[in-house]
Amino acid sequence: MAKKELGSVYNPQGLQEKWYPLWEKEGYFDYHKNTGKADADLKPEDCYSIVIPPPNVTGSLHLGHALNHTLQDILIRHQRMLGKAALWVPGTDHAGIATQNVVERLLAKEGLRREDMGREKFEERVWQWKAESGGMITHQQRQLGESVNWDMERFTMDEGLSHIVRRVFVQLYNEGLIYRGERMINWCPKDQTALSNIEVEYKEIGGHLYYVRYPLEGAEHDGKKYLLVATTRPETILGDEALAVHPEDERYKHLKGAKAKVPFLNKLIPIVFDDSVDKEFGTGVVKITPAHDFNDFATGTRHNLPLTNVMTDSAHMNDLAGPYKGLSREACRKKIVEDLGAWTHQSAGGQDVLGAGAEGGLIEKIEPHRHSVGHSYRSGAVVEPRLSLQWFVKIRPLADKAVNAVTSGATQFYPKRWENLFFDWMNKIEDWCISRQLWWGHQVPAWYCSDCEGVTVSVSDATECSHCKSKNIKRDKDVLDTWFSSALWPFSTLMPQEIAEIENVWPSRSPSASGTSPASGGGREGDYPAPRSPLLDNFYPTSTLVTGFDIIFFWVSRMLMMGMHFMHKTPFEKVIIHSLVRDANRQKMSKSKGNVVNPLEKMDEYGTDAFRFFLISIMPDGKDIIYDEARLKGYQAFCNKIWNTARFILMNTPEAYELPKAAPKLSAIDEYVLRELDVAIAKCDAALEGFYFADYALAIYDFLWKTFCDQYIEMSKVALKDDSMRDGALYTLYTVFRAALRLLHPAMPFITEELASVLPGGDAKLLTVSAWPKAGAHAPTAAADNHTAIMLELAGKIRQVRAELSVEPGAKIAVHVMLEDASAADFVRSHSAFLVSLARLGEVKFDKPATKMIHAVLRKGVEVYLDLAGSIDIEREKGRLEKEIISIEKGRQAAQAKLDSPQFADRAPAELVEAEKQKLADYNTRLDRVRDMLSSLS
Ligand SMILES: [Zn+2]
Repeated sequence: MAKKELGSVYNPQGLQEKWYPLWEKEGYFDYHKNTGKADADLKPEDCYSIVIPPPNVTGSLHLGHALNHTLQDILIRHQRMLGKAALWVPGTDHAGIATQNVVERLLAKEGLRREDMGREKFEERVWQWKAESGGMITHQQRQLGESVNWDMERFTMDEGLSHIVRRVFVQLYNEGLIYRGERMINWCPKDQTALSNIEVEYKEIGGHLYYVRYPLEGAEHDGKKYLLVATTRPETILGDEALAVHPEDERYKHLKGAKAKVPFLNKLIPIVFDDSVDKEFGTGVVKITPAHDFNDFATGTRHNLPLTNVMTDSAHMNDLAGPYKGLSREACRKKIVEDLGAWTHQSAGGQDVLGAGAEGGLIEKIEPHRHSVGHSYRSGAVVEPRLSLQWFVKIRPLADKAVNAVTSGATQFYPKRWENLFFDWMNKIEDWCISRQLWWGHQVPAWYCSDCEGVTVSVSDATECSHCKSKNIKRDKDVLDTWFSSALWPFSTLMPQEIAEIENVWPSRSPSASGTSPASGGGREGDYPAPRSPLLDNFYPTSTLVTGFDIIFFWVSRMLMMGMHFMHKTPFEKVIIHSLVRDANRQKMSKSKGNVVNPLEKMDEYGTDAFRFFLISIMPDGKDIIYDEARLKGYQAFCNKIWNTARFILMNTPEAYELPKAAPKLSAIDEYVLRELDVAIAKCDAALEGFYFADYALAIYDFLWKTFCDQYIEMSKVALKDDSMRDGALYTLYTVFRAALRLLHPAMPFITEELASVLPGGDAKLLTVSAWPKAGAHAPTAAADNHTAIMLELAGKIRQVRAELSVEPGAKIAVHVMLEDASAADFVRSHSAFLVSLARLGEVKFDKPATKMIHAVLRKGVEVYLDLAGSIDIEREKGRLEKEIISIEKGRQAAQAKLDSPQFADRAPAELVEAEKQKLADYNTRLDRVRDMLSSLS
């Protein structure tokens, strides 16, 4: 076989453009091709699967995706190399609000509004947008090298997935687990839709506490004719239905049966006594606005208060707001505060309503007040709690199943500590509001009858009322929360996609036929059989889910609920939770801070392989991930190093070289590096098994760079020139390098594929589908191993001293090696040519030098003398080292002072304190080393 060529310069872009289309076109990501088996012939234990967290169809690849997808690709590539039928399902999410907003903005540029177009036309427009510009991210996923099964690509609004959404909705409804009800919900006035509780972000903001006087009717308090009430939202005064005090608040006991008057509206409201009132807040009297506040709604329900909604969908004041009608809630607040202050007895028709001494009208005082206010996580608008008729999932029975999946161990979190947060959240979970007032999404499959007012819920479009058979029915306008369909993702993606086929694998069973009452919410497994298909049998539960901690609530828990309920099995066995990537100052990346890193630019600049490797290297177990571009540069250098290593090997390979089937005679150093390879394989196996991605990166990096390149390659330069050792060295170079490329492949797919393809001695398969290396193939004698290690240690020490004392790299110095152990000494003597090559020596002697030399003791019985006379200016070096000691001392003292300062030790984040401690330790090590060097010079 003729030797292949390898370009003299590493060009990552060229490799990416060469290999990805080939992998994809040839079907290398398809497990059918790799295993040679049809779905029906596979067994679940031969299968490994991951479903991708579907990115928004509007999205483009950001740093979070890049990290998340790289981790999944590493797992999938690893399992594929282990011989598993590895399935990675890609796809995108229709992303209700986000997509609707994108298309509405485009329409606005054309002077169009969706309301004028009508629903059908608008939906057509969104689909058109999706066909043209949606899914840019799938192109970017290819740039990242993701080995997903593209022929299984799904979209949450595909016909099949949409059908499954309806099946799920109808079944939950029949089981009594979906209901429609009037509840307080979080309303986004900007997007004009309901939000679920977890879509609301609470932010501390500066506001005011307004002390408002409510005139009393037929009672007095503290000698005054009014009650003072503190509120943060005076605009809701118009919807007040009561004032409330704590039943045990002595100050207000006498007010039982009294009434107060709502300012501006001639409306009398009761004073109620309720345990929920905080006696310490404000004056101990609170206003109750049942239609505009979650707590007030609950209080109102307990006291049978009316619900008065004073706002429109866009949070403007409505008809019930009297003179304030039409104002935005913000403008109304301003106006009401002004009016309250300007109120006089004349405004009340000259009556003495407040009594003497009530200066300042109806407002007594205004205090600055910080409080937590809910904002829409998407639009950023202040959320308006609001009474609304919405669809809900009765969550408790489902949440209990999700908790079960985790307590039983069927699903395990990595790191495990995330389980606590999950349990905590599942404990306090409330019913899930699933209807959204949007046009883009899965429209609620419910129809309302104008004749009998009955609700018909149906998988196929209803044509008549299921109660009275009237044709006079209208479909619900709302769509389902985007997370409703993504909650089904692990099984909906693995189902057949044709509706008839879905019905085949998922038999319907009417709940009434099996005797379950729809209202009981207690469908048994037998009543609702799970779908069965070869794909589901083999790949469900999926093996691993990889996701960011920020969507444990939104997504992970809901997939657990729906998977447990519909499949009667957990959707995934292992959940890997990773952190966010933060900037070098540990700040969250955001557009507004201008610190966002675009992964596509970095991939262009440094190459995808270096970028992927960088991402996993900076990922400590469960902690924050800090973006440090210097390291990214370092991994680009690593790629160059690997490239040049391959070139070195090729250059030293004879024409028509074939790797022998059996190992030729091997030298001790060959055995040594083969043994070290086994250690590296074991380390990589353990790291990937436990999802310690950074450990995996470190293991292969250290082995390739330090052991293989810095040590073995240097020594092989001697062996390749020696007839008695050449065959062994060539065999070892190829065996080790090929195995190392396979170890590295999941992290750096492109460069490894290229290098493996030009090196002779492969098994003709592409690396993507070749076997993962096995540890334990080579077991050299322990003694030779130990002796090689001593020789490498000596070489390392000599190199270090050379570097410390700035000895010319080309200077061939002489050393005297002193080894107490006779067999070790024999070994190093007989292998001294290697030491010469490793440490760039002129000569190695084994006696004690007669003249004074630099002396280094590695440990008892292992010493080396370096003859540097003529290579360095001893006096100058001494001066330099002394200066260096002073500078290190300075740094060391500064670090110590910082750590000693109570301000730093108590207040700085733990990671910063840890980093400072590490700095101090580094100074100390360095100081010892330099002092050591200085003393060896004197
Ligand atoms: Zn009807």
